[in-house]
Amino acid sequence: MSQPVAEVIVLGAGIAGLTAARLLHEAGHRVRVVSRELGDASRVPEPLLNPVRGKRGSVAPEAEEALEALWGFYPRFAPVRRGILRPVPRPEREAWRARLEGRSIPHRWLEEGLYLQSAGWLESTPLLHRLAEGLDIVWAGVERFEGNTLWLEDGRSLTGEVLVYAGGASGAHLAGLGGRFTPGSVLITREHFKQARSYGVYVAGHSLGGSYLPHRERYSPHQIQPQEVEWLLSGAEQLLGYRPEWRSSWSSVRYRLDGDYLKEIPGGYAITGFGSAAYFYAPLYARRLLARL
Ligand SMILES: Cc1cc2nc3c(=O)[nH]c(=O)nc-3n(C[C@H](O)[C@H](O)[C@H](O)COP(=O)(O)OP(=O)(O)OC[C@H]3O[C@@H](n4cnc5c(N)ncnc54)[C@H](O)[C@@H]3O)c2cc1C
Repeated sequence: MSQPVAEVIVLGAGIAGLTAARLLHEAGHRVRVVSRELGDASRVPEPLLNPVRGKRGSVAPEAEEALEALWGFYPRFAPVRRGILRPVPRPEREAWRARLEGRSIPHRWLEEGLYLQSAGWLESTPLLHRLAEGLDIVWAGVERFEGNTLWLEDGRSLTGEVLVYAGGASGAHLAGLGGRFTPGSVLITREHFKQARSYGVYVAGHSLGGSYLPHRERYSPHQIQPQEVEWLLSGAEQLLGYRPEWRSSWSSVRYRLDGDYLKEIPGGYAITGFGSAAYFYAPLYARRLLARL
């Protein structure tokens, strides 16, 4: 058996892996990240950080803790734009109010709908680059892992004292954790939306995103379909009153595990399966990982 090359090996340089690696590195752990590329699904251009979700206005579990953790973390690396407007139709507002009751999610009801001032959005790629700066990263594909040893596609093997799986949807077959895979797309718009809005679809920055496609049991790469473009544009028409011009698109696959996003696995931990709330939960779960090591 080879000697450990690092105390902690993190498989995956998406938002889950880099947030964890960065916190562990700052706490003095010897960390090595192994990844094929900088993020995969994490390259979603302008992710929302949204504590009140969907068209029903469900408050995300542990939303208060997640907000506190993310505001304490991301602004150290990249700007975070504050606020999301949820233009909730009037007949729905009572039910939304009831769901927010007793929770500490800062919000105001405006004429246009619910304004969440501690929610926000950011640009993913500059953040991923900043998080990666100064970390020990091996850019390589992983063929398989067993316990705390990884076998790379070029034949090398790496052993850490603890392995942290953060390979997201595209690496899920390596970890064998099951879960659901939901394809989706973002249209890149000509217009820049400074104020994030979300109801059915969302706009933020140059992004018009959302997803209605069914889950799959296995990962397969996704390319935007003509019916998705139509779905996003008609959603935008309801949200904004017009169809924004768009220039290009981005597509990927969300990976969702029900329950805990931090799991013990043989040889270490998996920090993954956040669905469409990875940017929302990554700092909270990275903190929890740190506390366990
Ligand atoms: C349309 C759409 C809209 C979305 N909107 C939002 C949003 O508004 N807010 C939000 O928080 N989230 C959103 N998401 C979800 C978010 O993009 C993902 O859930 C999240 O980025 C996953 O992060 P991750 O770090 O777990 O995985 P990934 O970013 O997929 O990272 C996995 C890493 O592991 C590496 N890897 C995988 N397999 C291997 C291998 N065999 N060898 C080596 N390396 C490997 C990859 O190269 C990559 O670096 C959206 C997703 C989609 C599709």
